[in-house]
Amino acid sequence: MELMPPALWLVRSVYKYKGGAEGKVKQESSKSIVDLPAMVEGFPPEERARFRRMFAISEVVGELRVPPSMRQWVEQRFGSVKAVERQRIVRVTNLFTLESALFNDLRSSRPFEACENAELAELIRQTEGDPFCRPWAGTPEDVFGRIEGTQSVTASNIAKYDGFHGLVIFKEHDPLRWDEEAIVDYFAVAMRWAEQAHAVDPTARYFFLMWNCLWKSGASVLHGHMQMTLARDMHYAKVESMRRAALSFQQAHNQPYFDELWHLHDLLGLSWHNGGTRGLVYLAPVKEKEVWIWADQYGEELARATYRALTALVLDLGVRSFNMAVYMPPIGSGPTTEEWEGFPVLVRLVDRGDLSTRVADFGAMEIYAASVVASDPFVVARTILEREEAFSLRESGLEAERG
Ligand SMILES: [Zn+2]
Repeated sequence: MELMPPALWLVRSVYKYKGGAEGKVKQESSKSIVDLPAMVEGFPPEERARFRRMFAISEVVGELRVPPSMRQWVEQRFGSVKAVERQRIVRVTNLFTLESALFNDLRSSRPFEACENAELAELIRQTEGDPFCRPWAGTPEDVFGRIEGTQSVTASNIAKYDGFHGLVIFKEHDPLRWDEEAIVDYFAVAMRWAEQAHAVDPTARYFFLMWNCLWKSGASVLHGHMQMTLARDMHYAKVESMRRAALSFQQAHNQPYFDELWHLHDLLGLSWHNGGTRGLVYLAPVKEKEVWIWADQYGEELARATYRALTALVLDLGVRSFNMAVYMPPIGSGPTTEEWEGFPVLVRLVDRGDLSTRVADFGAMEIYAASVVASDPFVVARTILEREEAFSLRESGLEAERG
């Protein structure tokens, strides 16, 4: 069978129902992250106060002088000398979680590249035939055996970082080649694995699902796979930290944290919802193009919403290497020592940057201070909203066909 490159394959599956539209939908570039302070200033007083109790925003202009010897290079690289000599920087801090990002309009003005990478496709092809291509022989299984879906099968991680640490190995080798049903399958298989592990050890209840895609994300094996753990005692520190922050907001303001977070992003046009799922492009992202999607329940609807957002990231915004993580309350029945009321099943997605550069995206700033972010959340949100619209058109097209 002749395989088409993943991006092209995705384009066809999506645009088939978009009146034959080719290529990218043109984006209006109205709002920018550096205008955030002015946007919030323009809110009605009550909304402004609500925004400011959750987020601190500050703005500063960084200035420098460009010597004549550098002018030509600066113009080529950044468009104008003026843009470099006065740079607006906006810092956003979530006052409850203390997540913080620094945005610079000079960095964020760089265009996104959504080009197809033939070299990458070739590299992926060359690694076919790895142990994950034959998981029954090439990977160990868990003590309870393997869970098999239509598009994936589980394995036990050979070097564990928790008592239960498994993999969802995709039947497809190419980590960028998945469709909606595949994502639904991976999510379902991961949860069936967690339920099996929980049956073996009922004290293991804290499920964590993650996906490292391609080497910039920390993936050591190129073949498409997710990983999952089921921990005891308490959730991982970053999940627990978010639970505590959400709870402290709820206690202070008598309002559900995630509803308020969504509302504040909605005021800015950074959010969407579809059925029982909600999404937003986060204002205090851990790194580039961070997207959050959540629902009350783990399951198919959330998996489909994740698929749609991932499609926008990969296809429209040129993301190739990314991380996904799922934060959720403990599984199983019975009380826990912590209060999880109001905490949803949250999917976090983040771009890990250009595969062709050796520079790491995380430096001392990200690890020890605050994240420096080049992508503009408003551009990312517009792209995802367009993609959501394209998918809903496709859905109504399918409905009409079924008629
Ligand atoms: Zn493989």
